[in-house]
Amino acid sequence: MRQPGKVVCVGRNYAEHARELGHAVPEQPLLFMKPGSAVVDFLSPVVIPTDRGACHHETEICLLLGQDLRRADARQARAAIAGIGLGLDLTLRDLQAELKAAGHPWERAKAFDGAAVLAPFLPPSACPDLGQIEFFLEVDGQRRQRGHSGDMLLGLVDLLVHISAVFSLQSGDVVMSGTPAGVAALQVGQRLCLGLAGQTWTSQVVAADA
Ligand code: ZN
Repeated sequence: MRQPGKVVCVGRNYAEHARELGHAVPEQPLLFMKPGSAVVDFLSPVVIPTDRGACHHETEICLLLGQDLRRADARQARAAIAGIGLGLDLTLRDLQAELKAAGHPWERAKAFDGAAVLAPFLPPSACPDLGQIEFFLEVDGQRRQRGHSGDMLLGLVDLLVHISAVFSLQSGDVVMSGTPAGVAALQVGQRLCLGLAGQTWTSQVVAADA
């Protein structure tokens, strides 16, 4: 997998997930980043740290940029999408809670090596209506997260417009668009299945070397 320069992530983009973590729905998107070094392929085993508390899955629609975007309008943003896929925004939830409580940045909980797990990208033609994308995560055969892009507080194109007004996006960068409800801790040995646009991908959870 080609490593992106950066992954821009969106927090609390689904009202139901914001509620499950006890957060208010933000007035503007909550943005953070993962470095390119955090990106790994979902089809390799999903490697989780086991020495820093719970590691949660957040299943998210991901956009691969095929063009640079800076202060883009909606037409430019739409045209820059080179791939649509799913990813797991792995989050060390206990550590994140400590960092939040201390008013510290989240990188230790969100930007570690392997924290941005990406399934293969589909061509944009696989999802012609960006407002009607359904996706899911199954863990050991149980549907744990189910999402619909129509439930996003800010839709995919609007997200790119908003993000590109804050940070320059470069070709090869990835945007993770936020998780629906149902986040939970991953356990070593679980089998994962991601589904998007009639495609599914499976993998397994393994422990990082201590
Ligand atoms: Zn997330």
